[in-house]
Amino acid sequence: MKAKDSIRNIKGIGEKSEKLFKKLGITTVEELLAFYPREYDIFTKIQPISTVREGETVILEGSFPARLKMASVHGLKIISGLLRDSSGQIQVSWYNMPYLMKTIKVGMHYILRGKIVRKNGFLQTAQPKILTQQEYANQLGKLQPVYPLTAGLTNHAVAKAVSLALADYEFEPDFLPLEIRKKYDLLLHKKAVHAIHFPESREEYARARSRLVFEEFFLFSLALHQMKGQKHEAVSKYKLVAGRRTEELLRALPFELTTGQKGAWEDVRRDLQSGFVMNRLIQGDVGSGKTVVALLALLCAAENGHQAAIMVPTEVLAKQHYEEFRKYLEPMGVRIALLVGSMTAAAKREAGARIAGRETDIIVGTHALIQEKVSYADLALIVTDEQHRFGVRQREMLSEKGQRPHMLVMSATPIPRTLAIILYGDLDVSLIDVLPSNRLPIKNCAVGTDYRPQAYRFMEKQVAAGHQVYIICPMVEESEAMEAENVLDYTNSLKEALPPSVRIESLHGKMKAQQKNDIMQAFSEGRIDILVSTTVIEVGINVPNATVMMIENAERFGLAQLHQLRGRVGRGEAQSYCIFMAGNTSKETMERLQILENSNDGFYVAKQDLQLRGPGDLFGIRQSGDLYFRMADIYQDARELKQANEAACALGKDGVTLLCKKYEGLRSIMEEYTGDVKTL
Ligand code: ADP
Ligand code: MG
Repeated sequence: MKAKDSIRNIKGIGEKSEKLFKKLGITTVEELLAFYPREYDIFTKIQPISTVREGETVILEGSFPARLKMASVHGLKIISGLLRDSSGQIQVSWYNMPYLMKTIKVGMHYILRGKIVRKNGFLQTAQPKILTQQEYANQLGKLQPVYPLTAGLTNHAVAKAVSLALADYEFEPDFLPLEIRKKYDLLLHKKAVHAIHFPESREEYARARSRLVFEEFFLFSLALHQMKGQKHEAVSKYKLVAGRRTEELLRALPFELTTGQKGAWEDVRRDLQSGFVMNRLIQGDVGSGKTVVALLALLCAAENGHQAAIMVPTEVLAKQHYEEFRKYLEPMGVRIALLVGSMTAAAKREAGARIAGRETDIIVGTHALIQEKVSYADLALIVTDEQHRFGVRQREMLSEKGQRPHMLVMSATPIPRTLAIILYGDLDVSLIDVLPSNRLPIKNCAVGTDYRPQAYRFMEKQVAAGHQVYIICPMVEESEAMEAENVLDYTNSLKEALPPSVRIESLHGKMKAQQKNDIMQAFSEGRIDILVSTTVIEVGINVPNATVMMIENAERFGLAQLHQLRGRVGRGEAQSYCIFMAGNTSKETMERLQILENSNDGFYVAKQDLQLRGPGDLFGIRQSGDLYFRMADIYQDARELKQANEAACALGKDGVTLLCKKYEGLRSIMEEYTGDVKTL
């Protein structure tokens, strides 16, 4: 089997499963093999019954001193009994398996594997698997892959397909040169792919992951070096000098710039008039006020008679920036346009004509800005907001629309400087390290689901006081469609739980762009009290009147992402609150969430999280929400990032050319790492 072969070549995959796999984005064998497990199920040793804890999956060995009982509840046959070992006993139950009444014998020894749950106050294990001695011995210590699934496709079916594909797959020769593999002690690609699906041990898993992570960073670094060229210190055709308008804008703002904002603006201002092309990253935690610095830069370009564009990752955010900028700039006679994908063809054409004909000074938009059809008369500056949501390639594409325009990149990803230098190539960095002084620190609490009624009452009070609320809905891994359904269900039950006077709406990725915009508009104008949403609101949205954020299933998000989400509140003068609602309150979960409870500082959160988890964490929740990488995580895998970058640098330009010659597909894989964008 070869990379591009259809998965139909795998035994057992027919038309029906083909469709299901397609829902997961898998059509070729290559894609199947790159469909990594979400986590692993580990067969631990048999443990004494007295030591089990709620939520754990355990293996128990014991016997049933009495005959099993069978009851019928709502037509469901439930079989139950007490399993006993020398340490204690526990209730065991099975649904719809009446034959067990016959097969399970009193006094015989059984090995059972199942999850411990609490029912009517007592611990029990429901629906455990019965293992033979042999099965237990074979599986002990092994890790079983757990895949993200879609309805109709079982974990077993995916694992089987992967295993069959692996058995028959012809791997290309490894593109990582032997010296590099040796120096950094990396597995062969082939071995790593095998092991990531079916690791023999934790150690093997860690090594497999390390190789695949290295590989991703390596390809990313190569691509980045290729693109960078000799951009640094390039002479600019645009000497932009901030003048009268800047002062006017600063006066019109309802606040004073913070020292951080002033510093960043000083850097930008200096760059713009230096005669060299600006390549600058502004890094500042959520809510630190990056937008206004961008606005100052955009205005500066316009004031000097040139065009400037700002690209953002979502339409909702584009719309919001557009409205906000208009408020300040239109009175000064600056012409500003919006360009997003959901506009009608006619509207796009019209905007395009005005951009090409120099009738627009500032353009706010999404990826629509880099579409082929759009051409700019005189682009002197480009800004990308929430850069971590874009591929590096998108930034380049926008830049190529002009003649070496100045480039300003904004990001809230709290990464250490050393990593920023690698990830953002040769950008200069300005840090906004203070929040506006009118802010009260967000009050946080991490709670279990039994707190939900209280949380609802709290929201009701906040709404009565004129504030607004975000609720982030439980995450659904399976699909966007299910996620949408989930949001709707949640919204309905929320409406039942709260008085009808509370205006509740929902927002999710399946909605039409126009509909999303309308809802966001209504929310920002205060016509909606509670917004139930998926993480689509994660990026950039600014509604200072919103004071409560509640995140359901908080345990399923990475801490960095939770921090970004939380950044939607605490943006105004009123006291804000963030409620992290955990679906399970295990010690690990609560410990992680307490990091957020204890601090509102993004850097601190990222660092603590890393310390708590340690490298090689088995259940790697993606931390950053960064879209460059499939497996790698810039926090967790900082070591690999440094090493891979070092290796890529050492290869040099000739080395890369040689490598690409030797391995045909390499260039296109490289490009994936810098061009991958998720449209929201
Ligand atoms: P982010 O850095 O997350 O993009 P924004 O630029 O959206 O943050 O700013 C968040 C909020 O803070 C906005 O409502 C903005 O008007 C306000 N803001 C920005 N700078 C200041 C300041 N110096 N003082 C008070 N409020 C500010
Ligand atoms: Mg922002």
